[in-house]
Amino acid sequence: MVVGFRWLKRSWLRPCHRPRRLPASLSLSRAGTALFVLAAFSCAWQHAIAQPFRLPTANRFLFDQGAEDKFFAATPGKTWTTGCFGCVRSDGGQMHEGLDIRSMQRDRHGEPTDPVMATADGTVAYVNARPSLSNYGNYVVLRHVIEGVEVYSLYAHLHSVRAGLKAGEAVRTGEVIGVMGRTANTRQGIAKDRAHVHFELNLFLNERFDAWHRKTFPGQRNDHGAWNGQNLAGVDPRAIFLAERNQGAAFSFLSFLRGQTDLCRVLVRQTDFPWLRRYPALIRRNPVAEREGVAGYEIALNFNGVPFAATPRAASEIRGRARFQLLSVNEAEYRRNPCRKLVRSRGGRWELANNGLRLLDLLTY
Ligand SMILES: [Zn+2]
Repeated sequence: MVVGFRWLKRSWLRPCHRPRRLPASLSLSRAGTALFVLAAFSCAWQHAIAQPFRLPTANRFLFDQGAEDKFFAATPGKTWTTGCFGCVRSDGGQMHEGLDIRSMQRDRHGEPTDPVMATADGTVAYVNARPSLSNYGNYVVLRHVIEGVEVYSLYAHLHSVRAGLKAGEAVRTGEVIGVMGRTANTRQGIAKDRAHVHFELNLFLNERFDAWHRKTFPGQRNDHGAWNGQNLAGVDPRAIFLAERNQGAAFSFLSFLRGQTDLCRVLVRQTDFPWLRRYPALIRRNPVAEREGVAGYEIALNFNGVPFAATPRAASEIRGRARFQLLSVNEAEYRRNPCRKLVRSRGGRWELANNGLRLLDLLTY
């Protein structure tokens, strides 16, 4: 498959970028027609696979080295890195799960007017048009399927959502879904000079989130059903945009996901939970479990708690009886990105911290 694609890329994909004139002697014979159909098909395929995500606004300073402060909206008094994805808030102690992309366009009152666009073809999953109910303010979630993997983009703090946009509706890459704003239900709000769209790319943890939330936080409100931020596990959109740009046609979102650095590996004594059915492309093979039967799954989590690989394990490969068993911790990764506090070291021994246990409970609920 890969070999075939590489070969295609070198030969037939070239007409994508620069149409070449046919030699006069070559009329549109049957072979010629087939050639053109193939070239056109692989052209569409290349674009579908190679650059699945597009920036959600006209701000393209992400790609200009040294101009990052024109792309990222920093938190007050801090550097542009506080607008990035990762352990960038509260001096590294707090996670920011998206990119804060600066406004480029304002009205005469200084309010942002940038159109916000769908990052990829997809369908509307959720619209929150009641800004007082979320620190995201008005926000939209879109569902995409990239290389067979479900990914959810999120656009927050919108001034307004495009009229009539509702769940289930199809959207195309670059289609305007709303206008940038400063909505949020936080006390301090977002100042004019920091106007931005908060943009995320997420995997979805569990369609039974609402029931899990009721069980886990009795009496607490959940206004957004499964579209609560806790149920969406973000990957770094900046890393994706830069990889797309650097790798061109070779970029693969699936490889990007599979290539995440693990913070820890956990053995889960369960053989059926929603994530396994939703992300079959992230399940690894294990001949022992295939032969003897599956008794559990070894899950790899990145520092933000994204489950990015699951390996079936046979009973003969499992020691201990705990529901969640911490198998390994990548200490270097923990030192780099500790802010989600999924694991902790106690007296020199690593264990799952409350955040890690809660995440696994949701994942397998
Ligand atoms: Zn943000």
